[in-house]
Amino acid sequence: MADPILFAVLFCAVAIGWLFGRAASTRHRMQPRSSDYYKGLNYLLDAKPDAEMDTFIASLDVNEETFETHMALGHLLRKKGEVQRAIRVHQNLLNASDIAPDHQHSAHLELARDYISAGLLDRAEHLLLDLISESPQRAVEARRYLIEIYQTEREWEKAAAMASSLLSKKAFFGGKQADVPGPGEQSVNVLLPHFYCELCEQQLQQGNRRGAEEALEAAAREDGSNVRVTLMYARLAFNDADYEQTISLLHQVEHQDPDFLPETLPLLKVCYTELGRQHDFSLFLRASLAKYPTTGLMLALADHVKDFEGVENAAAFLADYMRDSVSLRGLYRLLLWQLESDQDQLPSHLEIAMELMKQLSEKSPAYRCHHCGFGGRHLHWFCPGCKFWGSIKPMGVTKVLSQ
Ligand SMILES: [Zn+2]
Repeated sequence: MADPILFAVLFCAVAIGWLFGRAASTRHRMQPRSSDYYKGLNYLLDAKPDAEMDTFIASLDVNEETFETHMALGHLLRKKGEVQRAIRVHQNLLNASDIAPDHQHSAHLELARDYISAGLLDRAEHLLLDLISESPQRAVEARRYLIEIYQTEREWEKAAAMASSLLSKKAFFGGKQADVPGPGEQSVNVLLPHFYCELCEQQLQQGNRRGAEEALEAAAREDGSNVRVTLMYARLAFNDADYEQTISLLHQVEHQDPDFLPETLPLLKVCYTELGRQHDFSLFLRASLAKYPTTGLMLALADHVKDFEGVENAAAFLADYMRDSVSLRGLYRLLLWQLESDQDQLPSHLEIAMELMKQLSEKSPAYRCHHCGFGGRHLHWFCPGCKFWGSIKPMGVTKVLSQ
């Protein structure tokens, strides 16, 4: 670019910054900018080659009058993925001597957000902890970002402590803790029991049974009706070979969230078998399936029928059940049993169809997120799609519409 043109562009940029900075000084506090302002800045950034961009950033004076221009520029740079430049812009603001403390704290928070975007979580953590002690006005926001960091790093004890510190800032209404927004759209009240359950899992993996129990007790104090908490208590009872207690705990799941009934079946089956109460298990499966038709319950009952009444009765049960409730996994199981029992008479093309169905059934999701629609083969308590906690559930059967 020729020098006169470069000079003209830089002059315009500085003039825009000065004008916006001057306008800002009359308002005293930061106001949301119009979309035209961001469009203008965006256009300016898009039009600049890399080298000129650095000159442009360096050319802007840092003072109270140009503060908002710097903030808007840093925000846009981070949004465009140019995190290193955003960091430089926000560091310039922090190093400036004539910036009001309130504005310094804003820049401090933005710099922490830059570090999070860059994956420099340790640096972001230090900045946010400093900000909590320096600025009560920004402490809540800083705590939300810290929760995100601890969540990413699987530091569940710190995540729970930080989430609790947000809760303690709010009053209780009618004996119940008021909802407090967390780092995403979910309330901290929803996140906390999951953080303690994750901590419980961690302690179990490390062989610390006492630590696991303490974490689970903390989860129950946050939300005793949380289905995940009940499932974990059942797992601890099962590890102790306390089968009666495991059954009693797992039966609570129906009243907490019947969508999770299929998750109780593997342990229930072992417990009822150990106690010689297979008939009770059969009654439980039939009653549950009548109330809550899901593929997991249907297949568990079919397996149970196969174990006690033979494969033909099990296949007959599946075929009958799927007359008005179809499931790919159920269909595959039905054909598999037919193939096993009558292999000689099956034509080869049916075997190919079976193989295709097996692949389809293995790829089709068994769990679905109720918030974003993410589908998976395994139960995730933290949705990889929308980052929600507890939004993924086992899938039900598809009802066939009557013609
Ligand atoms: Zn989701």
